Amino acid sequence: MHKIDIELVEMTMDVMKYAIDRISASNRHIGHPKTAQELKALVGETITQKGIGGEVAFNLWKKHLMNANVSIDHPRHLAFVPASPTRAAIMFDLVTSASSIHGAYWMEGAGGIFCENEAMKWMVSLTGLPEGAFGVFTSGGTAANLSAIVTAREYWRSLNKKNKNEKGLILTSIGAHSSVKTMAKVVDADVLYVETEDRMHASNLQSKIDSLTENQRKRLFAIVATAGTTNAGIIDDLEGIAVVCKKEKLWFHVDAAYGGGALLADSVKHLFVGIEDADSITIDPHKWLFSPYDCGAIIYKNPELAKRAHEQEGSYLDIFKDEGSQGFNPADYQIQLTRRVRGLPLWFSLAMHGTDRYKQAVERGIELAQIAGKLIEEMPHVELVREPSLSCVLYRRIGWYPEDYTEWTYENHRKGFALVTPTKWKKEDTFETVSRFCFINPDTTENDIKIILDSMV
Ligand SMILES: *Cc1c(COP(=O)(O)O)cnc(C)c1O
Repeated sequence: MHKIDIELVEMTMDVMKYAIDRISASNRHIGHPKTAQELKALVGETITQKGIGGEVAFNLWKKHLMNANVSIDHPRHLAFVPASPTRAAIMFDLVTSASSIHGAYWMEGAGGIFCENEAMKWMVSLTGLPEGAFGVFTSGGTAANLSAIVTAREYWRSLNKKNKNEKGLILTSIGAHSSVKTMAKVVDADVLYVETEDRMHASNLQSKIDSLTENQRKRLFAIVATAGTTNAGIIDDLEGIAVVCKKEKLWFHVDAAYGGGALLADSVKHLFVGIEDADSITIDPHKWLFSPYDCGAIIYKNPELAKRAHEQEGSYLDIFKDEGSQGFNPADYQIQLTRRVRGLPLWFSLAMHGTDRYKQAVERGIELAQIAGKLIEEMPHVELVREPSLSCVLYRRIGWYPEDYTEWTYENHRKGFALVTPTKWKKEDTFETVSRFCFINPDTTENDIKIILDSMV
């Protein structure tokens, strides 16, 4: 073999070994950021005219760069919404890359898109949406929410010529994810909030609608409810909100980016009643369905409306719509054209493990939150801020000021022990700084929780 071929074979083996080691490791580093200057000082110039060679570059990655990333799948990483992709999904993520599939159109990606659609059918079945509902995988919850709101806005404008020149308005609650505001900026819509971070009830929503000016009411086209708030795991009154949306003729979007995985869990499924009446639903498999980054999903009750909003036209694209290439074109239902078949790792992992294993893994996250809640009640130095909801637990360390939480977080992270970050919870008119757990990884143990709580004494 030529020298270059041998080098490539060796490189491939090294990379595979690294991947296997990484996903088999029982004792991962949490990882800690360094500044760009520090990293530059460690690795020097890496992009050169001649190249520094694969071995050198890979060693720099392993020695200096990898550890400057936080391992979001560490069992004591309980901050933000962590992740815990299955080994099967990670390995198939490698397969997805190696297969070089263009996932925009059936003509080029039929095999991959077929698999994505099998996984999607299962996800749609969890929502209880009626026959005909379907969805596509997106880069994440933000892209999914944006795709849904563009669809809703275009539909609204198609209903009445007068809406064409109007700036749209969306109502949601302050418990909604920050991406709702961001995507409203992108579509140039206004957002108004129902003033609760707790469960948004239909009556709160109705009062808010009733309080709008005539002009605002005319511009209102969509309601965004949250099924599993990112901060506290709260599920809005979906059943009641669905009724309000129907009566007021508004698009009903449910953001279940984080909480959607819990549709699998018999213990909490009843909290989602009403989701089957949604016009669109966001679910992130890279959060609670154990997929690697990135993998979100948007599901529509009527995919035809999404197609009207998102289908791209261009002379170079006509071929994809010819006979013979007939099939499902993911590009038609969300904002992206060229796309990775990012639902493929989820498909493989589901196929391998079966949906029961997924159900058990999600139930374990909910159980861990209940266990944490009980431990917190038993320990004198901490107390619950509210009952655990889904897999989120908000609690306070009695007597701590905001800076104590911050210091404790940094100290634990520095030591490589745990990553648990503070958040804020609204109490009357002020925001209190509290501590928060979010459980996703089924390998987190009761002892992990206990030693984290003990470290707050
Ligand atoms: C995480 C999250 C999002 C954003 O999803 P990304 O995948 O990070 O883009 C949106 N909504 C909710 C409720 C979330 O928890």
